[in-house]
Amino acid sequence: RSVSNGVHQPDACDVLARVFGYESFRGDQHAIVEHVIQGGDALVLMPTGGGKSLCYQVPALVRPGTGIVISPLIALMQDQVDALTELGVRAAFLNSTQDWQDTREVEQAFLSGQLDLLYVAPERLLTDRCIQLLERGKIALFAIDEAHCVSQWGHDFRPEYLGLSMLHERWPDVPRIALTATATDVTRREIAERLSLDDARHFVASFDRPNIRYNIVEKQDVRKQLLQLLKQEHAGDAGIVYCLSRNKVEETAAFLCANGIEALPYHAGLGAQVRAQNQSRFLREDGIVMVATIAFGMGIDKPDVRFVAHIDMPKSVEGYYQETGRAGRDGLPATAWLAYGLQDVVQQRRMIDESAGDDAFRRRLGAQLDAMLAMCEAIACRRQRLLQYFGQRIEPCGNCDNCLQPPEAWDGTVAAQKMLSAIYRLMKERGQRYGAGHLIDILRGKATPRVLENEHEKLTVFGIGQDLSDQAWRSVLRQLLAHGLLVVDQEGYGTLALTEESRAVLKGERTLMLRREAERTARTATPKSK
Ligand code: ADP
Ligand code: ZN
Repeated sequence: RSVSNGVHQPDACDVLARVFGYESFRGDQHAIVEHVIQGGDALVLMPTGGGKSLCYQVPALVRPGTGIVISPLIALMQDQVDALTELGVRAAFLNSTQDWQDTREVEQAFLSGQLDLLYVAPERLLTDRCIQLLERGKIALFAIDEAHCVSQWGHDFRPEYLGLSMLHERWPDVPRIALTATATDVTRREIAERLSLDDARHFVASFDRPNIRYNIVEKQDVRKQLLQLLKQEHAGDAGIVYCLSRNKVEETAAFLCANGIEALPYHAGLGAQVRAQNQSRFLREDGIVMVATIAFGMGIDKPDVRFVAHIDMPKSVEGYYQETGRAGRDGLPATAWLAYGLQDVVQQRRMIDESAGDDAFRRRLGAQLDAMLAMCEAIACRRQRLLQYFGQRIEPCGNCDNCLQPPEAWDGTVAAQKMLSAIYRLMKERGQRYGAGHLIDILRGKATPRVLENEHEKLTVFGIGQDLSDQAWRSVLRQLLAHGLLVVDQEGYGTLALTEESRAVLKGERTLMLRREAERTARTATPKSK
C-alpha cells in the first residue's frame, strides 16, 4: 500500500490516523510535522518515550520521495522496519548485517520510488556507493536520530556523525530533522553547529518524567541494598541495573540469579549473539532484570520497565537522565534508584585522569562528574535539580526521596574545618599523600598501624573528630567534594587536596550547611506517615 505516491498529497492528520491509528498528535508533534512537511529544518529535543519517531515518519509519508533515517542503532533496525511494515509502510534498511543481494534489492526499491522510509547507519551513509545511490533517487527528508552522537563531549560520541554535515552541502533543498533526548544547552548548540542546522527551528519539549520516582542512596552493602529494592519493591518487575564495568555486570547478574531473580548480563564484551538473545528476552518476556553497562538501552522501546537501578554513579547528569529515562515509558509509576559512595568519585576521577584526550577534554569530564556528585548530595528536590540542569524550571515535585523525606540540613562548618585542617596538616608532609580512610582514622583518633608508623597520633588534629561516625565523616567528605571545597588529587590515587575555596571555610569566613545522612538501608523513599 502506497501512502506517499498518490497524486493527491495526504495530510498529516490523515496519515496519523490511517497509518498509525492514533487520534491526535502529542505535544509539539503536530507543529514539528507541519514544519518539516513545508521543507523546514528542525532540531527536536524530546525525552525518551516522547514520540520522536512520528516526527519524521509522518512527514516522510506525506512528502514525495523516501525519508532517509540515519540511526546508529543497527541492532534495532530490523525491529523498526518490521513494525512499520506491519502498518503498511514501505520501509527498509541498509547496514552491515545484510548480504549483497539484500542490499541490491533495497537499493532497487529505493531507486524505483517504492520506499517510504529507509534506515541507514551513519558509516554506511558516508560511503561513496551510498551517496551515489541517494543522488539517483528521490529523498523526502533526512532524519538524524540520536543526534547527540555528534557531540564530542557527550556521553555517546560517534565520529561518523561528524561527517553528516555534508548532507546540507549535497542536498541543500532536502529538509533535515535532527532528534535527541539529550537536552543541555551546550549539547543543543553543538548539534546545531556540527550538523550545520543554522536555520533549523528548535522544538524543546518538557523533559519532566513525573511518573519516575528518583531516589539516591548512600552506598553501603550495595548488593544487599539492591536485592532489597528488587525483592521488596519490585518483585517480578522488569528493570535495568546499570554497572560501570563488565566484571561487575557479570558478578551482579550471577548474584541476583543465585537469589532467585531472573537476571541477564549485557555488555560489549559478550558475543553479538548472546547480546541479541538477552536483549530479545528482556523485550519479550516479563519480569527480566537486565544487568548491563551503558552499552545497553539506547533505542530500547520497552514501555513497562519498572525500575532503573544504578549501582555505580553515572559519569554525568545527562547520562543519568538518559538511563533513568528508560523506566516507566508507559507513564505508570517507576523507580530510578542510585547508590553511590566516595569510592565512585575516586574511581571515576582516576578514570578521567587516565583517559586519552587533552586537558580541556578532561576538565569537561571532571565538571560533568562534579555536577553528578552535586546532584547526589543535593538537599532539595532531585527533579528540580535534574531539570534545572537542562534549563527547565519546576516546583518541588513531591515524588523524589528529598521531597518525600526531606533530609535534615546541619551546620557542618566546624566539621568541615576539622577535616580541611587535617588534610592541610597531612599535605605538609612532602611526598606523602593519604586517602580518605586514613584521614578519617586520624580524625576519629584511631591508632591504626598506619597511623602509628607515621606518628600521626602526634598531629594536633588527631582525634578531634570523635563526635561523628565514620559514615558521617565520609558524608562530610563527599559533600566537601560536591561543593568544590576539596578535590581528589590529580597526581596520586585517591588522595585529597584543598582548593582555593577551602580557605574561606578554614578562616571561618564561610558557613556550610550539609545534608544529614540518615542511617539508611536500600528503602526507596516512602511518604512519612503523619
Ligand atoms: P521516542 O523515540 O521519543 O523515545 P517513540 O517515538 O518510540 O518515542 O514513541 C514512544 C511511544 O509513544 C510509542 O509507543 C509510540 O507509538 C507512542 N506515541 C507517540 N506519539 C503518539 C501519539 N501522538 N499518540 C499515541 N501514541 C503515540
Ligand atoms: Zn522532588
